[in-house]
Amino acid sequence: MLLTGPTKRTITMNTTYDIAIIGGGIVGLATAMALTGRGQRSLVVLEAEDRLAAHQTGHNSGVIHSGIYYKPGSLKAHNCVSGRLAMYQFCAENGIAYENCGKLIVATRPEEIPALDQLEQRGLVNGLVGLKRLKSEEIKEYEPYTFGLSALHVPQTGIVDYIGVSEAYGQIIQKAGGTIRMGARVIKFNASSHEFVLETTAGEIHCRNLINCAGLYSDRVARLCGVDPGLQIIPYRGEYYEIRPERQFLVKNLIYPVPDPKFPFLGVHFTRMVKGGVEAGPNAVLALKREGYTWALSVGDVFQYFTYSGFWHMAFKHWKMGFGEIHRSLSKAAFVKALQRLLPELRGEDVYRSGAGVRAQALEPDGKLSDDFRILEAPRMVHVLNAPSPAATASISIGQSIAAMAQKNFMT
Ligand SMILES: Cc1cc2nc3c(=O)[nH]c(=O)nc-3n(C[C@H](O)[C@H](O)[C@H](O)COP(=O)(O)OP(=O)(O)OC[C@H]3O[C@@H](n4cnc5c(N)ncnc54)[C@H](O)[C@@H]3O)c2cc1C
Repeated sequence: MLLTGPTKRTITMNTTYDIAIIGGGIVGLATAMALTGRGQRSLVVLEAEDRLAAHQTGHNSGVIHSGIYYKPGSLKAHNCVSGRLAMYQFCAENGIAYENCGKLIVATRPEEIPALDQLEQRGLVNGLVGLKRLKSEEIKEYEPYTFGLSALHVPQTGIVDYIGVSEAYGQIIQKAGGTIRMGARVIKFNASSHEFVLETTAGEIHCRNLINCAGLYSDRVARLCGVDPGLQIIPYRGEYYEIRPERQFLVKNLIYPVPDPKFPFLGVHFTRMVKGGVEAGPNAVLALKREGYTWALSVGDVFQYFTYSGFWHMAFKHWKMGFGEIHRSLSKAAFVKALQRLLPELRGEDVYRSGAGVRAQALEPDGKLSDDFRILEAPRMVHVLNAPSPAATASISIGQSIAAMAQKNFMT
């Protein structure tokens, strides 16, 4: 294992790196991998925690998304489709366990059928081949315990462990001459005409250019660097339950509801995991802290929401959905009821609470939840401001796009 371990010592090197990447999640690492792949060796990845993929990347559902959900022509659609192909190839070439198992999107109410029709059309426009529409009785051939009025089988979807993928990216970066520093949270920024000085919790780093891939802190890091992000990150916690081993036969692969098009979240679903086991979730509860994996509260973070106009616009528009999610977070019975729409035989005692992840969701000043990826260029900087799902699937493609921006605009 080449990765540098937790660093308590101060960084003393006098090197001025060509590029510093803030954030050792899958997007920062994929960007570093793309840059080293293009011959860029003077590069450092700065990660606040003592390990890679410690936040969104290490707490996600582990799904390789197909690209069916995203608006044709959007960055999500383009990067998910090309990133998915690249992800399967990367896993096959690097010995990372994955399965291209396919999934079902299931309409359980008559009013969901038009939205399922639209998804099917969108999938075709986004180039998905082999989508199969299933009648109620045909659903059982794929998922014997699932109830639905109609469903769509998406053969391109798969499962993988994104921590394993991130570690493999890290090894490739280091083998190619890049540097990874853990325990190095960027806390201050200074600029001169020829370089940036980043003060980190492990000492100073000098660089000529920087790329911000700080996930849940991307807006704060942009501001720290003197750039107005024009949005605020709002953390949405996604809580999971797991199905007890003796009842896992209820789910063969992945079973999803038809998503509500008003929200960028997919609705609670069932996911078989590549390492074994079946997860149910995640919901989407407003977290009271940026890294709020529980109901823990940060007064500073909450104060920041309350003083942001976008938060009140969003709260006014979506309060009903918000309270529904809080109810499902606090009540296991309510969570299980949502799951039973897809799997009527599931009982409360079949599931137990497992982990949670926190999504970094960008919120516009008018209260709109930003749907697409958002990448902002500034002199000698790139800021990745919104990289929610499917950014793990799409990471190789996003990394290549950012590397191309850097090669065009950065000073070396
Ligand atoms: C519950 C959940 C389920 C999901 N499911 C899927 C899925 O199945 N498939 C999929 O494709 N996508 C999924 N996603 C989305 C996907 O996980 C994210 O889009 C992706 O991980 C984003 O990667 P990132 O590198 O931008 O962010 P992160 O993984 O959060 O990485 C950002 C890193 O920056 C570091 N950092 C922050 N501030 C600083 C600082 N000041 N200095 C140094 N370092 C800093 C953090 O410690 C962190 O490690 C899911 C996300 C969640 C939360």
